[in-house]
Amino acid sequence: MKRQDYISWDEYFMGVALLAAKRSKDPNTQVGACIVDCNNIILSTGYNGFPYGCSDDDYPWDREGDDTKYNYVVHAELNAILNARGRDLKDARIYVDLFPCNQCAKAIIQSGISEVVYLYDKYADTAETVASKKMLTSAGVKLRHFTTDRSVIELKFN
Ligand SMILES: [Zn+2]
Repeated sequence: MKRQDYISWDEYFMGVALLAAKRSKDPNTQVGACIVDCNNIILSTGYNGFPYGCSDDDYPWDREGDDTKYNYVVHAELNAILNARGRDLKDARIYVDLFPCNQCAKAIIQSGISEVVYLYDKYADTAETVASKKMLTSAGVKLRHFTTDRSVIELKFN
């Protein structure tokens, strides 16, 4: 008899997004993304970080002041799209733990991704997220809130 407690595709891909987020050096916000095609093959992953050559030791992670992270950071969704290196993302799905901002929404739409699966939407009331939803909806991108009965997936190295 086969195992019954195997994880679903959604849990698998959201799990990969959450694992990618663990790579982020941002002390406040760690976001991960995973792009998947219609055959459930992972095309790319990404997390929020600075561009190549811009060292985490030289650039600021501050949120306030003269020079903030917002000038430099590449969001998880955009990194995942760029990490796909021009592969065809038409009708792909993107799993991301935090609902995409308006800048990432533009990239998601232009890349051809047709569904956003998100875990939480804690900035729903901000102008950026309102604009994001407006654009994604206009472009016909499906928005789906991820839910599961599982609260944890454990990984062990021993
Ligand atoms: Zn973004």
